[in-house]
Amino acid sequence: MAAQTEESDCAREQTKAEQDVDQVRKRAARDQQRLDSGAVTSPKDLANLQHEIASLAKRQGDLEDVVLEVMERRESAQQRVAELTERVASVQAKADDAAGRRDAALQEIDAEVASVTKERDVVAGTVPADLLGLYDKLRRQHGGIGAAKLYQRTCQGCRQELAITELNEVRAAAPDAVVRCENCRRILVRTAESGL
Ligand SMILES: [Zn+2]
Repeated sequence: MAAQTEESDCAREQTKAEQDVDQVRKRAARDQQRLDSGAVTSPKDLANLQHEIASLAKRQGDLEDVVLEVMERRESAQQRVAELTERVASVQAKADDAAGRRDAALQEIDAEVASVTKERDVVAGTVPADLLGLYDKLRRQHGGIGAAKLYQRTCQGCRQELAITELNEVRAAAPDAVVRCENCRRILVRTAESGL
């Protein structure tokens, strides 16, 4: 946007400088016409007129230099606008591509959430209500994890190894008893790898 502003500022400056040149040129032409017409006869007036024509020529040359300088600045501003426009287009294309991939990923995630939620509902339907209630309560209290695997004598919820007395209690518990971690209170899930 800054480059575009610079370009349009240059364009305005160029128009103004060209008008200045035009004005000087017209005035010089008028003077020249008067000189050529022979209407001016006084030597003093003739000298003045010739002097003015000469200084107008000098002024026109200076103003034309200004026009050229402005045109050069405008050209580089135009180049910059073109370059930046191209870059904006390429960055926009990348952003569009990333947004497209994000949307596709979100769709996949939504689909996965829907299918996992359905699976969970099926499993939850087989769990006794009081146990499910306890699990849900623990899950709310412990960052979404209400039950943890007991793996090699370590609770995978809090990563604490069970003390020997606690371990003995777990060993003695009936297979269908609900055992909890002494440390984090999560439900412990016993497997063949529990180290019991
Ligand atoms: Zn624990």
